[in-house]
Amino acid sequence: MKRIYRIVFSALLLLLIFQPLYGAQPGEMKRVLILYSEDKTHPAHLMIDQGIEEAFRSKPGFDVQLYSEYLDVSRFGDPLHEQAMADFLRRKYSGIEFRVIITVYPYALDFLLAHRLALFPGVPVIAAVIGKSHAEKLERSGARSFVTGTILANPVTDVMDSALHLKPETKRIALVGGTAPNDVYMEQGFRQGFGAYAGRIGLIDLTKLSMEETLSRVGSLLPDTLVIYTSLLKDKTGKIYVPRESLQLVAKASKAPVFSFAETFLGFGIVGGRLVSFREHGREAAALALRVMGDESPASIPFGGEQAYVSTYDWRELKRWGISEKALPPGSTVKFKSLSIWEQYWWVILSSLSFMVIETVLIMGLFVNFHKRKRAEIEARQRQNELAHVTRVAAMGELTSSLAHELNQPLAAIRNYANAAQRFLSQSEPNLTKAREALEGIIRDDRRAAEVISGVRGLLKKEEPHYGPVDLNEVLQESLSFIRSDSVLEGLSIETELARDLPRVSGDRVQLQQVLLNLILNAVDAMDKPKPDLRKLVMKTENEQDGRVKVSVRDFGSGIDEMQREKLFELFHTTKPGGMGLGLAICARIIHAHRGSIRGENNPGGGATFSFTLPTTDNE
Ligand code: ADP
Repeated sequence: MKRIYRIVFSALLLLLIFQPLYGAQPGEMKRVLILYSEDKTHPAHLMIDQGIEEAFRSKPGFDVQLYSEYLDVSRFGDPLHEQAMADFLRRKYSGIEFRVIITVYPYALDFLLAHRLALFPGVPVIAAVIGKSHAEKLERSGARSFVTGTILANPVTDVMDSALHLKPETKRIALVGGTAPNDVYMEQGFRQGFGAYAGRIGLIDLTKLSMEETLSRVGSLLPDTLVIYTSLLKDKTGKIYVPRESLQLVAKASKAPVFSFAETFLGFGIVGGRLVSFREHGREAAALALRVMGDESPASIPFGGEQAYVSTYDWRELKRWGISEKALPPGSTVKFKSLSIWEQYWWVILSSLSFMVIETVLIMGLFVNFHKRKRAEIEARQRQNELAHVTRVAAMGELTSSLAHELNQPLAAIRNYANAAQRFLSQSEPNLTKAREALEGIIRDDRRAAEVISGVRGLLKKEEPHYGPVDLNEVLQESLSFIRSDSVLEGLSIETELARDLPRVSGDRVQLQQVLLNLILNAVDAMDKPKPDLRKLVMKTENEQDGRVKVSVRDFGSGIDEMQREKLFELFHTTKPGGMGLGLAICARIIHAHRGSIRGENNPGGGATFSFTLPTTDNE
């Protein structure tokens, strides 16, 4: 059993390793040789190569092996080198069978036709990018039986029509070309085709000059002129140029827009137009090769190349010469467009902007809310203060008899002291010592009366709370002083248990007096009906362990109605017929504003105790 597993596993492994081969659905291995006229770096060759590869790769499962050779004719085109190259290829490829040979440019075709029998007898040929005259020659020589290909038509009409479409006001054409064989060949082709335009457009001949002369001539052209660049591989002085390099120099110096015929020149100074696409030529050549490999006879396949064009323009040149994109033929593409910051990053800018707007709106919303809340808080505090004031005035109203008594006492004493002083002074021998004592008594009681009045005034004054260190023992005494001699206190005993060394609290003296006064009056009320046996108030100040101070008012009255307990500190909650239900609610607000707490509870032995605690200043 184990052996079977091992065999299956090995088979799977082999399948995995060779999977690409199987995936390619191998048929017969097809070898294709591509014979290029120029060297490897020739821009048009690179594009043709790209086109050929793309076309072969687009046929999945079609197993083609490509071989490339570069004849480098511009540098080694003499018969000696040609022969050496033929010998080299014969040796290199002896024993290797090609299904098709693709030649690129006319020279490679001529080379192959000259050496085909010795090198690759019987192999069909696809001649990519040849002139019309070459194709005709093939027909005449009988080579057409094994050759088909793509034709590059004379580009003059395309160049001229593209240029005149954009610049219809053109009066003259300046023709730029060099002295190399290819330059001359291209120039002649242009001159032939130009005949059709000669009647209406003049020709300035800038061919076969030195580069220096060429540049100075194109630099002084009039605006109604166009430059046509054919080919400038070599100038009059014999200096060699790469076509793109010479084109760039000419375009830079030129005072008029430059046009040419090939896609490979786009980006090097030409405006653009209906341009020959070498990539398309490559694609078409590969498509023809596939047909031939599919056993079609080359003779029966017509030449292609009619569609190998692209309508492309250089955005920078359009800008430079003030040509609007709207003037371009429909379906044109514009390359090298440098986008504005907005065009490149519009979505980043838009999203950042919208983010900023949303953020600003949110912040503004928060700001408005914050201000509303602040205003509401201020208003609430003002209302609370007003309410506290109103209830204070009401409480003082209840205490008028007590206050009258409080004032009566010192006034009566003052009157007595004054009478006594009169007497001491009217004696035959005035008793000055006694009179002085009586006067001191007057001053003392006057001060007491003044204190009573200022206490009452303090409570009646409508002022913003003023926070400062407060001794709660003193506050308790002062509150008691308002009621000490009130008639309601008759038969009421008041006990005070004041803690020694009581730390101060931070608070508003008047408001804290009001709280105590309220608690005292409530306690007195609670002991009114039904009258308890014991009418006693126990008032205490205590030092709490957590650094707080506690003040409590204990009574022996009716106690808090359990049902009402929850609502004790709510506004307008009262169980009294004439009550307003404001006192405890105001007390709670005052104590909370002082960061303290207040509570009311029933005593185990009857009656209630209301107490509040406040943080001490040391504890803050
Ligand atoms: P008011 O005195 O106008 O009724 P308060 O807010 O001062 O308003 O008191 C609210 C209610 O709390 C009182 O009606 C009473 O029922 C209860 N209360 C307050 N203090 C005492 C107390 N010492 N003993 C029993 N009940 C009390």
